[in-house]
Amino acid sequence: MRQMANLPVFLKLSGHPCLVVGGGEVAARKVRQLREANADVLIVAPQLCPELQNLAAAKQVRYEAGRFAEKHLHGCSLVIAATNDRDVNENVSKACQNRQIPVNVVDDPELCTFITPALVSRGPVQIAISTGGAAPVLARLLRARLETIIPSAYGRLAELMQQFRAQAKEKFPEFDKRRRFWEQLVSGPIAEMLFAGQDEAAFKALEQQLDSEEDSVTTEGEVYLVGGGPGDPDLLTFRALRLMQQADVVLYDRLVSPAIVELVRKDAQRIYVGKQRDQHTLAQEEINRLLVKLARQGKRVLRLKGGDPFIFGRGGEEIEDLAAEGISFQVVPGVTAAAGCASYAGIPLTHRDHAQSCLFITGHLKDDALDLNWEALVQPGQTLAIYMGMKGIDVLCRELIRHGMQAGMPAAIVQKGTYPEQKIFISELGRLAAVVEENNIKPPAMTIIGEVVTLHEKLAWYKP
Ligand code: SAH
Repeated sequence: MRQMANLPVFLKLSGHPCLVVGGGEVAARKVRQLREANADVLIVAPQLCPELQNLAAAKQVRYEAGRFAEKHLHGCSLVIAATNDRDVNENVSKACQNRQIPVNVVDDPELCTFITPALVSRGPVQIAISTGGAAPVLARLLRARLETIIPSAYGRLAELMQQFRAQAKEKFPEFDKRRRFWEQLVSGPIAEMLFAGQDEAAFKALEQQLDSEEDSVTTEGEVYLVGGGPGDPDLLTFRALRLMQQADVVLYDRLVSPAIVELVRKDAQRIYVGKQRDQHTLAQEEINRLLVKLARQGKRVLRLKGGDPFIFGRGGEEIEDLAAEGISFQVVPGVTAAAGCASYAGIPLTHRDHAQSCLFITGHLKDDALDLNWEALVQPGQTLAIYMGMKGIDVLCRELIRHGMQAGMPAAIVQKGTYPEQKIFISELGRLAAVVEENNIKPPAMTIIGEVVTLHEKLAWYKP
């Protein structure tokens, strides 16, 4: 038989008198938890910290000024001692144990008859973690890990499921079928709608599913258009990572770093759709059509893009077809290359002394020319962040100078920003094209032009 140091339980304390001995910050933390559980809290302490004073003044808790005495235990369901006086704590503990009242003494396992776990909360969902007092730091670490992988919307998901419990029971009287129904729900498109903030649509879809004659659960495909950031996998969002780990098929292009593609669910089908300058492996229209086709097959399709999908990513075009076809989709922002490169190069894009605005520009040549609003680009106190600018760098610099920008304007090129191979070239506008040529700088590279570039010398921190 397996042995447990303690029996985990969740206590119902709503309306029950509970005593907290102590009036400091630690006591305040415990009072907060007890109040979250709707307990009727009595505090006994010679004095209170400001937070507890406020609660007492607002009659949110009962307060008795003075020292602990046995009479305070009368009618108590649970007691917490949080004073910094071990004698007092020990007295409280003994008195409680004599009367069989559960007692916790903060940070003193020997005096406790129950311990309070580290907690991860999502509405009605609660995960309690305990190491039985062996290693509280480990419990806290685990909690931090869990916090990052459990979507904050799980609370709302649990609430939604609660609302439909009776209906589901009626429709699927057999336990096994019902369980399968819920299992599909929590990892299917309805849950995903909720996570994406489409609560009403989720409610309607679930209602519809339970109303329909069908008793098998049909799965409809969906598309996640996800920004993978500039390269460093640590810059992914929680949501991006979660969707990467549940997708059935992934379409990614060259800009997505291999380390990020690695994080996709192992058994997901991977489709490389290229997108190198001048040699698009799949034409944009083919990608758009493929997304529709895969979703129609009931697949959860992840369209993974470098940076942010809505910044020079043609993300808008890719979901237009989906919208027209009524396929459900969501868009997850990513750290765009300008932001990633700027941070990792120690070049703030705006700065009170140097730049009050920043423009994101495409330097992509069309018929060997750049069709940009040059007047707007040469304004003072402005930073230019130029995407896709390597091939047209000479045209860009020449035109900026022709429209009045100083040839001595500081400029930087960040190649493979946020990657371990990141390289930074600091120069000035007039020399930039030569720098690209001399160093044979290949994409992906971000050009940053403006006075803020001078800050690099002081602020560079990323030295892989
Ligand atoms: N949607 C992407 C941009 C796509 S355009 C985003 O939001 O970042 C592609 C251009 O982005 C590249 O030509 C390059 O200029 C820039 N870029 C993307 N990743 C980069 C990186 N890691 N380092 C430098 N530039 C990058």
